[in-house]
Amino acid sequence: MMLVNVAVFAPLHDVYTYRWPGHLGEPVAGIRVRVPLGRGTRLGLVLSVTDSLPPGLDKERVHDVIDRLDRVSCYDERRTRWLERFRRYYLAPEGEVWEMALAWAQARDAALLECSRPEGLPERFAPLGAAWRGRRRALKRETVIARAAVPHANWLLDQALQLGLVKVREAVPVMEDRAMEDAPHALTDRQAEALQAIMAAGEAFAPFLLFGCTGSGKTEVYLQAASRWIEQGRQVLVLVPEIGLTPMWLQRVRSRFGGGVGVWHSGLSQREKWSMVSRLGDIDVLIGTRSALFLPLPRLAMIVVDEEHDASFKQQEGIRYSARDAAVLLAQELKVPIVLGSATPSLESWRLAREGHYRLLELPERIAAPVPPEPEIIDLKSLGRDVLISPPLAEAMQKTLARGEQLILFLNRRGFAPALQCCSCGHIAECPHCSMRLTLHRRASRLRCHFCNYARKVAPACEACGESELLPLGEGTERIEEWLTEKFPEHRFARFDRDSVRSMAALQEVLRAFSDGRIHGLVGTQMLVKGHHFPNVTLVGVLNADLGMGLPDFRAGERWWQQMIQVMGRCGRGEHAGRVLIQTRMPDSVWLKRLAPGTEPVVLDEELQLRGALGFPPYARWVRLVFSSRRHESAWKAAEHMAGILRQQAQRWNVDLVGPMNCPIERLAGRFRVELVVRDAHRRSLPWKLAPLLVRRAFGPGVRVQLDVDPYDLM
Ligand code: ADP
Ligand code: ZN
Repeated sequence: MMLVNVAVFAPLHDVYTYRWPGHLGEPVAGIRVRVPLGRGTRLGLVLSVTDSLPPGLDKERVHDVIDRLDRVSCYDERRTRWLERFRRYYLAPEGEVWEMALAWAQARDAALLECSRPEGLPERFAPLGAAWRGRRRALKRETVIARAAVPHANWLLDQALQLGLVKVREAVPVMEDRAMEDAPHALTDRQAEALQAIMAAGEAFAPFLLFGCTGSGKTEVYLQAASRWIEQGRQVLVLVPEIGLTPMWLQRVRSRFGGGVGVWHSGLSQREKWSMVSRLGDIDVLIGTRSALFLPLPRLAMIVVDEEHDASFKQQEGIRYSARDAAVLLAQELKVPIVLGSATPSLESWRLAREGHYRLLELPERIAAPVPPEPEIIDLKSLGRDVLISPPLAEAMQKTLARGEQLILFLNRRGFAPALQCCSCGHIAECPHCSMRLTLHRRASRLRCHFCNYARKVAPACEACGESELLPLGEGTERIEEWLTEKFPEHRFARFDRDSVRSMAALQEVLRAFSDGRIHGLVGTQMLVKGHHFPNVTLVGVLNADLGMGLPDFRAGERWWQQMIQVMGRCGRGEHAGRVLIQTRMPDSVWLKRLAPGTEPVVLDEELQLRGALGFPPYARWVRLVFSSRRHESAWKAAEHMAGILRQQAQRWNVDLVGPMNCPIERLAGRFRVELVVRDAHRRSLPWKLAPLLVRRAFGPGVRVQLDVDPYDLM
């Protein structure tokens, strides 16, 4: 009897055994299959082929594999090993990992069903004809009908294709954007050094941190390295943090490498994805967001992670992996160089560079544009509590617009964690034990520390100056567009954030209008900060600098700083130098003093030292467990139960446990959230030792557990 062990695509830690029916050909490890599970069917991945039943499993109770979706393995040995390490690190169920990793293959399944009508098929393909008729009756449900109505439609289709009985329709090429001229530049000495170092690594694992301000020529280095690999018939993967950055990258890379450039992100249609998947072998450069990492490029020779510090590389739902860290792991398995690029490296990468694990390559100067301006700080405190745009900023805006130049207003929205700020001295309430901002819990009228659980009642007046009342940070920013249209009626402004720019087309349109000069100013959030190049922008105004600082997250400062540096980098990239104006109620904040151009390495070293002293990441490794339930009590009990189990191990493993405590965002989508944070200062026990504690553990009815290894967002 031929058997296969299958990782079923479901959040299950178990592997299931099925019988392999002869009509599906030879079984191969690494292919996807459809199998029965419970009352329904599921897809899964064949992990291994065997002829012996696992002990305790009765022959009669083994079910048959229903269908086979692939002819050959989806992944080779190295990628399989990579995913196995990935799975162990992120403590994720096998089936869930494979389902996520092989999501790209679904594009191929959809494509298979785009067959022309199978005419006059031989007898054994009869089920296909039935599936086809079903499809014609209900076009919308084509996939469901084809697979569910005919148990082995995929494998049959595949065979029919092989025999030339059915044809696949042409895949539509991914929409081409207009190309611009971008010839390779003669490299500066520093660029040439960087390129040389990268190429000298050859075909071996070699991690680099390419550290240079915006406009210092990092992209030029990636592109020239890429072109060397392409000449040798190899492939390069470029990961970018945001879908919004792909058009810009595509333009630039296409003008260099022409048609051999592929793109991958969640905004592609199923057909476009299929087109990409079927061209994987022909592509020279693939540009994509997180999920592009899972595409099995057959001749991959180098990985680039641009803006490596960006929090968007960390997936925030499902398996909470870091695409940057997973990329390093992949480079290790594939034995290829990886280049992490940033103007404001993450402290994770900075530490590895400082300790010599990553080779640090620096590009300290901007290539063409003038040096970035020193930021000018505007103290809002004296201007009353409601002021949105201060007179100095308004005046600078007026002058900029009058000169026919453009401006960007940056609105920090990531600070929606409620904190209290004194409107006369700017002080934000802090924890006496952690030097972390306290979070306002409105209903309970309490301020709480999300690191040690310290809590106290909201004081009637500011604890620092004793004067004024405290106001929640970050309200009232919605009025800006109104203000602008009123104040500058003859100019055009656009919002640029996730609420106002919902589609890829809308995004491209706004970017185009701004670069053509049809729009004079952009008001935007984080999305605006990243990578865009607008030579005519000579004024950047930061409206509410304090906001991101008010987060109960030890990375708040780091992230705020990265963002500010990026925002400032949007300014004066053309012929004219620019001005950066930052509005704040905390003009004496340490972080504000860390914005002077050229001080980045000092800032990073200082912050790294502080993290070391506090025993925080990147020195420590943390795992966060969030228990959620519609009933607060259930979530709390589950967390407490787990805490009990963990406490028994804590000493032996040499780890600390914080919690249970309510999450900063106490309730989300109707579910109460209670967290535990396990901290491993030595990075030896975590996350691996947690695995056996989590497998097959029930936490009570209606309780969900969300695991986050190396959490980036502690909300
Ligand atoms: P980064 O990726 O660090 O922001 P880029 O590679 O995009 O920097 O370079 C910034 C600008 O300078 C681009 O317009 C690019 O074409 C140009 N540039 C890059 N390298 C050179 C060079 N060696 N000589 C002249 N111009 C260059
Ligand atoms: Zn505290």
